Amino acid sequence: HDVQAKDLELLKRLGEGAAGTVRLVYHKPSGLTMAKKSISTDPDPAVQRQILRELAFLKTCNSPYIVSFYGAFLDEGETTVSLCMEYCEGGSLQDIYTRARDRGGVIGEAVLARIAESVCKGLVYLHSKRVIHRDIKPSNILVTRKGDIKLCDFGVSGELINSVAETFTGTQYYMAPERIKGNAYAVQSDIWSLGLSLIEVSQNEPALPPPGHPDLSIFELLDFIVRQPVPVIQGDHISDVCKNFVAIW
Ligand code: ATP
Ligand code: MG
Repeated sequence: HDVQAKDLELLKRLGEGAAGTVRLVYHKPSGLTMAKKSISTDPDPAVQRQILRELAFLKTCNSPYIVSFYGAFLDEGETTVSLCMEYCEGGSLQDIYTRARDRGGVIGEAVLARIAESVCKGLVYLHSKRVIHRDIKPSNILVTRKGDIKLCDFGVSGELINSVAETFTGTQYYMAPERIKGNAYAVQSDIWSLGLSLIEVSQNEPALPPPGHPDLSIFELLDFIVRQPVPVIQGDHISDVCKNFVAIW
């Protein structure tokens, strides 16, 4: 049955993004623990109905490489759309590499290979349903308790994307050059973002802005992405096979 606000018990806050807040909730009727993401949207009821209609597509997504969707509804005085999804106890790859960095460690190549495999399989699945993810980055790649790696936060609702009016901060660094240039873009743009995500996880910091250019303005950065050679994965601990995998796409 449908997930409703009144059936949820708030457990704790899991994280915060540019678009909203993610909380751990308990769904009393099913006994499931879920992650609830709440996003402030356009207050127009017609727009909100459209967003909920578009999000219903997520119910048809069924893959071990995609975070399961339980339902969406209007929340908090009808100005917020909340989306309930599978709770991934391991957190995001961003959480995981940040913890590794804080302990002075780094994620090794065997794990990078598993990430690449899982993300590619998730993308094959989405692309077979004619969905471009549009927001592949370490914080949108989640890890379950068992260690399975899954994609979340893909762009199924054009109306939601419009409603959340991209603030030009941080998240755009994963955009492929063809998107920055305003050209037609397609599934290949997700592969660009996968490459940047693998570089980021392996070096414990974002691939862009590029090393040695920490203070680029957003305009300089976008110009850099479009003009400069593609970022590559570096380090003596990384094999040539892995370097080539990231470089050739
Ligand atoms: P941005 O707003 O730039 O996209 P983000 O992806 O980190 O950044 P959110 O999607 O709001 O923002 O997620 C915030 C944090 O909540 C994530 O970094 C992750 O730690 C946590 N989180 C999100 N979804 C889940 C989930 N299904 N299970 C467990 N933790 C989650
Ligand atoms: Mg996210």
